[in-house]
Amino acid sequence: MTDSEKQCKHIFVTGGVVSALGKGIASASIGLLLKSRGLSVTLQKFDPYLNVDPGTMNPFQHGEVFVLDDGAETDLDLGHYERFLDEHLSQKHNVTSGRVYETIIQRERRGDYLGATVQVIPHVTNEIKTRLRRVESGNGKVDVIITEIGGTVGDIEGQPFLEAIRQMRLELGESNSLFIHLTLVPYIASAGELKTKPTQHSVRQLREIGIQPDILLCRSPEPLDDSVRNKIGLFCNTPSEAVISALDVKSIYEVPLQFHRQDLDNLICRKLQITCPPPDLAAWEKMVAKTLHPSREVKIAICGKYVNLHDAYKSIIESFVHAGVENDAHVEMVWVSSEDIRREGADKFLNDVDGLLIPGGFGERGVEGKIEAIRFVREHHIPFLGICLGMQCAVIEYARDVLGWENAHSHEFHRELEYPVISLMAEQKSVIDMGGTMRLGAYPCLLSERSKSRQAYGMSQVSERHRHRFEFNNEFREQLETAGLKVTGESPDKKLVEIVEIPDHPWFVGVQFHPELKSRPLKAHPLFREFVRAALQNLDNRLVGNPVENEEVKQ
Ligand code: GLN
Repeated sequence: MTDSEKQCKHIFVTGGVVSALGKGIASASIGLLLKSRGLSVTLQKFDPYLNVDPGTMNPFQHGEVFVLDDGAETDLDLGHYERFLDEHLSQKHNVTSGRVYETIIQRERRGDYLGATVQVIPHVTNEIKTRLRRVESGNGKVDVIITEIGGTVGDIEGQPFLEAIRQMRLELGESNSLFIHLTLVPYIASAGELKTKPTQHSVRQLREIGIQPDILLCRSPEPLDDSVRNKIGLFCNTPSEAVISALDVKSIYEVPLQFHRQDLDNLICRKLQITCPPPDLAAWEKMVAKTLHPSREVKIAICGKYVNLHDAYKSIIESFVHAGVENDAHVEMVWVSSEDIRREGADKFLNDVDGLLIPGGFGERGVEGKIEAIRFVREHHIPFLGICLGMQCAVIEYARDVLGWENAHSHEFHRELEYPVISLMAEQKSVIDMGGTMRLGAYPCLLSERSKSRQAYGMSQVSERHRHRFEFNNEFREQLETAGLKVTGESPDKKLVEIVEIPDHPWFVGVQFHPELKSRPLKAHPLFREFVRAALQNLDNRLVGNPVENEEVKQ
């Protein structure tokens, strides 16, 4: 058999006991380890819920909607996959029950089943199996596909997925498939012990449906000693060398290193009969060391609507970690509620921060507070990065305060406006189906010379991901530019404004796209990197008591 004919190997990752154990990070970490051993690896997530995709789900319940280049609105775990693998994924990599059922019901309506009774087994499971194998031949040969099954073993809606992977094992054979189960081993303080019973129950549930996990990843607050490992191995029918400790760690980027220290990647390669060199983790180790031991610290405020639910801003948080690494600094994120700013004034919350980020969002709540926060940092020369709605708020603020257009706002919030500086494009206005009007996915953007963005990226054209309906209104572009708010990034046909900047400010950049979706641990996003650099500069200036100067853009 030649190399190209070799069967692609499948790893299935399930979760037990409780949710939120970090199945996405564990899957991404395994992906990174195998990729670092020279294998071509991809990751996908199969979610049992009935939504066709997470695009319509509330990010404050479900976490952020992660958008891919092709415009797919996906689960936030796809963000971890892209960040750990440093690869671009596509719609095919995130499948939900909703999508599976949608396909089957359409087929049934067309009469494709020729009068057969359509059932969960085999129709739903077959459709799941087809989709599980869809990424086998992505851009070239894929050696290993890691599939994370969303939810927790025992959930009713997850059963067709588990049945499908059970069947896959029969079809692929033992050397081509692997079951990894992530479970919880809690520490019970009153007994002073780690408890294995929840893991035993969870594995029993899997075995009842015919799945015997090959490897157990045990999330625990304390390392598993040999006796706990042996006990779990014995009761779960798993060799104790395959009982891996997944200890709580400070940085998610430590997880692959922790797994590697326990020989997990060797074990996986052995079980799947893969021969490959040991992993090269030098760059990753260096990055982790930098996240754990930064030389400096800088405070950046994030001002949004619901600041307590950090999963809604996952990629932004990670982007600051990456940008921190490249600036050898820890970015302390200070979460500020825009409604508190509205009530108590920006001064109270922003006077000791060295940067302000306003993230994307939908809906009017909190917008006036964001505008106030932007005014504060614009006037006090504090570095600012506005993302999507954050950029739109910056335009509104400038129009109101600098041009004196009191009635400037976005058509998203008010219909009758004298100065709708943010509006729908003419061609969008006729689209009635609101779901279809969103600008989604990657679009090219041309950068102006001598701009801070161009300096950050070091190139004249970039591609960035979008997720919004409203746009900068070109009708007001000339007046805003004359007043000092410059358009420094636009679509190649010049119809869409993608970036605005205030040259007469140390660092004030608003972007219509979402740069956080493309930042990587070993390659911080240029705008985040430069924003953090400007914040550190601001801190230095404050410490020596110098007024903040605009840095001359050299280009
Ligand atoms: N609500 C704004 C729009 O639809 C911004 C969206 C966002 O920030 N992602 O245009």
